[in-house]
Amino acid sequence: MCADPGIGSPKNIILVIGDGMGLSQISAAFYNVGRKYSLEAFPIIGFQKTYAANNLITDSAAAGTAIACGCKTKNNFIGVDPKGNKCESILEEAERFGLATGLVVTSSIQHATPASFFAHQPARNLYEDITLELLDSGIDLFIGGGKQHFERREKDERNLTQELKGKGFEIFDYFNNDLATIKPDTLKRFGYFTADKEPLSAIAGRDYLPQAATLAANFLKHRSPNGFFLMVEGSQIDWAGHSNKTEALYEEMEELDLTLQKLLEFARKDGNTLVIVTADHETGGLGLNRGTSNLLAPKFTTNGHTGVMVPVFAYGPKAELFRGIYENTEIHTKMQQAFGFSQN
Ligand code: MG
Ligand code: ZN
Repeated sequence: MCADPGIGSPKNIILVIGDGMGLSQISAAFYNVGRKYSLEAFPIIGFQKTYAANNLITDSAAAGTAIACGCKTKNNFIGVDPKGNKCESILEEAERFGLATGLVVTSSIQHATPASFFAHQPARNLYEDITLELLDSGIDLFIGGGKQHFERREKDERNLTQELKGKGFEIFDYFNNDLATIKPDTLKRFGYFTADKEPLSAIAGRDYLPQAATLAANFLKHRSPNGFFLMVEGSQIDWAGHSNKTEALYEEMEELDLTLQKLLEFARKDGNTLVIVTADHETGGLGLNRGTSNLLAPKFTTNGHTGVMVPVFAYGPKAELFRGIYENTEIHTKMQQAFGFSQN
C-alpha cells in the first residue's frame, strides 16, 4: 500500500465539522452577520445524506464514524461497524502514511465527533476508555476540553497526563497557559486542555477556535513535510440546536465563521491544502420564518436531530470531488482519494 499523490493532490486536508449545522443554521448566520460569510468563498458545494445504519435520524457517533471511517454504523457506536468490528479512520490512515494529525474541538476531546477519529467503542459515553485510546493513538496535537478524564479517573489510579508526557507530548491548559504563548515550532507533539469538562459556550465567552485552528494548521505544517490531516469541530452548534436557543446559535456560527476565515487564509497561502466544511447532521429542525419588520423569526421544531441532508463545501486541490449528492460515508472515501491513499 502506498500514498500516490496524483496530479493536483493536496498535501494537507483540513476537515471542519459544524456539529448540527444544517442549511437553516447557515442561512440564519448569513442573514445575521450582515457581511459576506466565509462559506461563500468555497467554490464547490455538495450534499450528503446523514442517516445511520439503524435509524434515519443519526446521532453524532454514527455520523462521526461515517465521516471519519467511511462506515455506516448504529447510533451510539464510535469507530466500529454495526457488528462492532473496528473501522480505520482517515486520521489513523494518515498516520500510517506518515502524515501529521490533529484534532481541535469546542467540546471535550472524548466527545462523539472527535472520538470517531481515534477511538473504537460500542458506546459513545465510555469516556475513560475513549481517553485511553487517545493516549495510544499516533495523534500529534489535540485541543479541547475533557482534562478530568486524564487526571481523575474512576476506573484506575493512572494519571494519563503524565503518561502523555512520557509519549513526547507537551501538555498545556487554559488555566496556566494562554494559547498565544505556545510556540508551535518548538514542539513535537502537544495537547491543550480548554476545559476540565466541557468548554464554555460561545455566548458565555468561549472564543478560542479561530486561534486554536490556526495554531494547529501551522504546527502540523511545520511538524510534517509529508502533509497533515486536521479535523476542526464547531461542537456546540448542536447544543444550541438541542436547547433551541437562537442567540446561542448565532454566537457559535460567528466563531465558526471567524475560524473558516483563518483556515481559508492558511489554505490560500499554502496552496496545497484542501479545506472541507460539513456537518454531521442538522439539529433542531430549524425553520426560518417571517418575523416582524422584515426580520427573520427562526423557529426550532424539535429538541433533537433531523434527517435533512447537510451541505458540504470544498476549497483547494481536489475540491471538485465533493460535488453532487452522496452518502456521508463518501466524505471518507473522497478524502482518501484526494490524499491518494490506495486501497488494498
Ligand atoms: Mg460533536
Ligand atoms: Zn446532538
